[in-house]
Amino acid sequence: MCEINGERLLSRIQTLGRIGFQDKTGTTRLSYSPEYQEGRRLVEGWMREAGLQTQVDPVGNLTGRTPGKGPRLCIGSHLDTVPGGGMYDGAYGVLAGIECVQSLKEAGYASRRPLEVVGFIEEEGNVIGGTFGSKAFAGVPVDAAMEPNMAQHGLTPEQVSASRRRGQDYRCYLELHIEQGGTLEQEGLQIGIAHGIVGILRYRMRVEGFANHAGSTAMSLRDDALVKTCRMIPWLMDRVTETSPELVCTVGTLQVFPGAVNVIPGRVEFIVELRGPRMEVMDRLIQAFFQQFQAQGLTGEEYIRQSPTLCSPALIEESRRLCQALNFSSRDMFSGAGHDLINMAQITPSMLLFIPSRKGISHSIQEYSAPADLVRGAQLLLELVKTLDQKEGAL
Ligand SMILES: [Zn+2]
Repeated sequence: MCEINGERLLSRIQTLGRIGFQDKTGTTRLSYSPEYQEGRRLVEGWMREAGLQTQVDPVGNLTGRTPGKGPRLCIGSHLDTVPGGGMYDGAYGVLAGIECVQSLKEAGYASRRPLEVVGFIEEEGNVIGGTFGSKAFAGVPVDAAMEPNMAQHGLTPEQVSASRRRGQDYRCYLELHIEQGGTLEQEGLQIGIAHGIVGILRYRMRVEGFANHAGSTAMSLRDDALVKTCRMIPWLMDRVTETSPELVCTVGTLQVFPGAVNVIPGRVEFIVELRGPRMEVMDRLIQAFFQQFQAQGLTGEEYIRQSPTLCSPALIEESRRLCQALNFSSRDMFSGAGHDLINMAQITPSMLLFIPSRKGISHSIQEYSAPADLVRGAQLLLELVKTLDQKEGAL
């Protein structure tokens, strides 16, 4: 068995995590910032040390690959952080990828297929828009909302198209990430085998009532839109909880009209967001919600519908088998958070693996994963790379 160099991996995570780090705030390495460039240069150096030929594409994605012909085994994640983020989100997947390649090389393992490690730019989306780098990489159209931000940073549509890779050059894409949720820790498990990334459904909802004088209108004569809304939301939440533990629902905004202390609310607007592995389940819930409350003035329309991303069944199977063989405890799960894999899965069979996050915290200075978990995840990744390198047939 070829073991990864855990000490080297951990020390690189720390070193990269210090770039853009501020006391009490955390690590801020926004795409295209000087801190970002510094971090990417450092990672590029480590890629070269691992025997990878590096390249930065026109939008800023960093790739490093071993020589050779044929479809590549690609490992990646992102190098940017949110403002005041942690040192593991994204960086871990890239550095673990480099560590795998370097450990294999040092063990004298000659891969049959080219290996590629990618450090995507702008996954977090605080500068241009979410997963901008991997969108360009995979040729997924960028959102219209990103265009003004691109212009501001001197990025052209031509640069975006010039960064596009061809699906036929890839055999698969593997992303190792911190869980960013508390399930693995809570259940005392070591590895999360993601079947995919949940779909998202968002509805703009409206509840009509009747605005009237707050002093002279008796309680029995009111049609208070806010009071009605306050009964609807828990009803929906209860249905979601009953339906499946894989579903989550959030009402994160609520606007009350006309919004005056002495006027009975005549209208309330809010947004319902559902995330789950199956769109039809979420559609049914929303229909039930309308049916239950339409007589009370509830209406609404869908405005975001993002289908779930699915990992490759063959890669899920290999990951499970390896966890068993290596005696790593694991569970199957869905990712509630988006990742670069959403775009990569459009061009090549993809797989997402998780390690535990302490208290499920991420995008925070408190983000933490234990050294043993970090090393274990990278070891699993290495075994997966070796297996897939030797395996014949489609994934
Ligand atoms: Zn991430």
